[in-house]
Amino acid sequence: MNPFLELGIREEVVNAISELGFEKPSEIQEKAIPVLLTGNDDFVGLAQTGTGKTAAFGLPLLEQLDFSQKQPQALVLCPTRELCLQISKDLEKFAKYIDNVHVVAVYGGANISDQLRQIRRGVQIVVATPGRMLDIIGRNAIDFSQVKYVVLDEADEMLNMGFKEDINNILSETPDDKKTWLFSATMPKEVRRIAQNYMTDPFELTVGTKNTGNANIEHNYYLVKARDKYAAFKRIVDSNPDIFGIVFCRTKIETQEIAEALIKDGYNADALHGDLSQQQRDKVMKRYRDRSLQLLIATDVAARGIDVNDVTHVINFSLPDEIENYTHRSGRTARAGKTGVSISLINIKEQSKIRQLEKVIGKTFERKQVPQGPEVVEKQLLTIINKVQNVEVNEEQINPFLPQIMEGFEALSKEEIVKRFASLEFNRFLEYYNNAPDLNIDARGDGRESRDGRDRGERGSRAGSKGYTRLFMNLGAVDEFSRGDMLGFICNNAKISGKSIGKIDMKGVFTFFEVQDEEVNKVFEGFKAVDFNGRQVRIEVSGDSGRSDRGGRSRGGDRGGDRRNSGGYGGGERRDRGGDRRNSGGYGGGRGDRGGNSGGGFRDFSGKRRESKSKY
Ligand code: ADP
Ligand code: MG
Repeated sequence: MNPFLELGIREEVVNAISELGFEKPSEIQEKAIPVLLTGNDDFVGLAQTGTGKTAAFGLPLLEQLDFSQKQPQALVLCPTRELCLQISKDLEKFAKYIDNVHVVAVYGGANISDQLRQIRRGVQIVVATPGRMLDIIGRNAIDFSQVKYVVLDEADEMLNMGFKEDINNILSETPDDKKTWLFSATMPKEVRRIAQNYMTDPFELTVGTKNTGNANIEHNYYLVKARDKYAAFKRIVDSNPDIFGIVFCRTKIETQEIAEALIKDGYNADALHGDLSQQQRDKVMKRYRDRSLQLLIATDVAARGIDVNDVTHVINFSLPDEIENYTHRSGRTARAGKTGVSISLINIKEQSKIRQLEKVIGKTFERKQVPQGPEVVEKQLLTIINKVQNVEVNEEQINPFLPQIMEGFEALSKEEIVKRFASLEFNRFLEYYNNAPDLNIDARGDGRESRDGRDRGERGSRAGSKGYTRLFMNLGAVDEFSRGDMLGFICNNAKISGKSIGKIDMKGVFTFFEVQDEEVNKVFEGFKAVDFNGRQVRIEVSGDSGRSDRGGRSRGGDRGGDRRNSGGYGGGERRDRGGDRRNSGGYGGGRGDRGGNSGGGFRDFSGKRRESKSKY
């Protein structure tokens, strides 16, 4: 007998999933389905991606709902429109042979009236992203009074994306006696809190070992100065000529920038992030799968669930905010029994994060040295030799040209020819690595890193760095900007790249930020008529700055004006930091280099919430 029938799934559904190639239940399905079929319990299911969670909740839903009714009886919340579409399609496929099953996918970035029309026609299952769902609830366009089941799929990811409030609000619109089923790949504190607040004595199921990474993954890190990160990254790539990697960044701006820089530097790379249309994403993914891209630069959200075989390296260009995401990221390599390497590029302050990661995933990270120029060059050289030795010669096609080729080289010795062919491929590296500096820093801290203003807590801040002008803006942390938000806000309005922005020093009610001298006018231009919550945004050259060419490194900045600025608001800044730490369920303390984003991540700059325009 078909094992799904034995679990209690009806024949029509079993037939449909057989057509999809489901022969026997996965572990989470086998364990969850019997529990969920009773319909009695709240439920928490922890399992890695790709373990078949959709059917684990989807099949029981199909058994429980009354399809002769046309009111929503089940609500599935998930973090992204891709997942929303995926889940609703999967459910429709499972229900192929049941009559009158109506599933609607409700997600942002698409025409809402189509979705409203489908809801009006009658649906039993609503699959939704939180933002759009709230929008529809706000229009009184949906009746949740008959909802019996709410599924929170990829709950960890929804919280990462700042949907906590939205989820609270949506849940409060559903009947008290509904059952809540939560699925997640990981169980950070925030998810646990949801389980505590919204569930009664949930049935908990963990499949596989949670949090422990794959044994085939080697975890390495490189200690570099923040400003050397990109150069160090390139060396690592160059010394792994056969790399087929995914590079993780924290924001889509960073993602875009790294990808652009890599393309400019001659690498086969492209970016995958939340601002791309579905079509663009599919294209990028296809190129990556086909290996016409060697490096995929991605945000956590965009890369969620990417299942490409033979990824050799996962590179954490920036460590994720949440420890849990590290597991997701590194899990993109070493799939199907292969081995893989997960690399993190960190600065001195982030060493404690590595220690915490080690504790959580139960693995030791090995510190590696950024390869020196000559090492990289040697690696490349060997690769070229290898290539020459292994190249397939198409005798038939090349033969007719051989006499001409030979003639052309007549004057050159074998040695000369070899030298010149190697140089063809090789000059780029020779040039680049000529006199390349050592990029490693002393782990004990020689102080140089922390004296470098770029990623230092900005108290006692001073004049702009060399080549930068320090500007003032009348918006700050109290306006609920994280530092990342502020960066985006400046770049979007001034239409300049994030690379042109130096330090951002957010205070309570205003912000100082550095802009490359040549871009300063664009900032003034771009902010000429920008309102934020009805307030005119004001930009000024910071009193202590002036168009700077002051040799920032020489720390000439202890000018009177400067001290005045930083002295008065130090307290405010400390408070912001505290809030940051409280928000992050991430790496305990010490996250001073980033504004907390947990709550307001999806606010766009008009103060409205939006899911299609996220940072990720
Ligand atoms: P998760 O939500 O845990 O990441 P999915 O539900 O998206 O995983 O399933 C991952 C893939 O495995 C999908 O392509 C799905 O069709 C397939 N799948 C799920 N369950 C089974 C099964 N029992 N047998 C074969 N394939 C399955
Ligand atoms: Mg899933």
